[in-house]
Amino acid sequence: MNIAFLGLGNMGGPMAANLAKAGEKVTGYDPVPDARAAAAGNGVAVADSAIAAVAGAAVVITMLPSGQHVLDCYRDIVPAASPGTLFLDCSTIEVADARDAADLAAADGHLALDAPVSGGVVGAAAATLTFMVGGPSEAFISAEPYLKSMGKRIVHCGETGAGQAAKICNNMILGVSMIAVSEAFALGRRLGLTDQALFDVASTASGQCWALTTNCPVPGPVPASPANRDYAGGFASGLMLKDLRLAQAAAQAEGVRTELGKHTEELYTAFVAADGPGRDFSAIITSLTKDCTA
Ligand code: NAD
Repeated sequence: MNIAFLGLGNMGGPMAANLAKAGEKVTGYDPVPDARAAAAGNGVAVADSAIAAVAGAAVVITMLPSGQHVLDCYRDIVPAASPGTLFLDCSTIEVADARDAADLAAADGHLALDAPVSGGVVGAAAATLTFMVGGPSEAFISAEPYLKSMGKRIVHCGETGAGQAAKICNNMILGVSMIAVSEAFALGRRLGLTDQALFDVASTASGQCWALTTNCPVPGPVPASPANRDYAGGFASGLMLKDLRLAQAAAQAEGVRTELGKHTEELYTAFVAADGPGRDFSAIITSLTKDCTA
């Protein structure tokens, strides 16, 4: 099967490389020359345009920055695809955009899935991503072997848009819980608790959660967490903010009250404006603990 892979950035580059490593014939395209050159070095054939990459492909995978990029791209490539092509969009985008993209593909007789990921650039490189998939079962069954070459956990969440819905709901939990954990460390310090003492209790008590036990926002208790390297690497605050905004757009569209999600989005908006988008999202604790020493 020929696979077209569009968007060879931080995530798409290693994902396309893993498909090629698994023996698939992958043709990639990205407007950025460096991204194309890196892919070419990893066994991916490189095309001159998205339309050229899609010619003759049975599967088209997109890993693009936003819903607008995905819809613009689909408007270009869907008419150029062979009949019955399987479209897999792995970008994180609005649920409504995912549905529109799938409609564009279906209108021309293609199968389409939304399949956003979690696991970040480390998971993309190691082929350990989690895929959250929305769309028809027949498309899911066809897509599974390709997803398995790029990830280790693949969940069919429901109909079109359900993958994006799962992604933004999960990341809303993550953002809210990171704020909660950060506030607890700030308060604990003021009350004379060491970070380690609070961690030792909360990590095995009812306060335990991923934001505490794996991505602990203070240095020390979890040596591998980004806090131990000045929040370098990990899941960038700017990407967390993007996902929180997608969750708020969906909540508003559906008329669902998500007060903590809304406030978390506001806190990350202020944090990214002050600190920049690049550090791990757990760095938000530095805006809460300025006057609280460990
Ligand atoms: P990125 O900016 O590194 O890569 C996106 C690439 O798409 C860029 O290289 C860009 O040139 C390319 N592109 C834009 N329009 C194109 C087109 N029409 N055809 C082909 N290529 C095109 O972004 P990324 O970090 O790889 O993220 C991609 C998606 O994955 C985003 O939706 C992001 O939210 C999501 N995501 C990222 C992470 C992460 O940790 N980076 C984790 C989970 C999900």
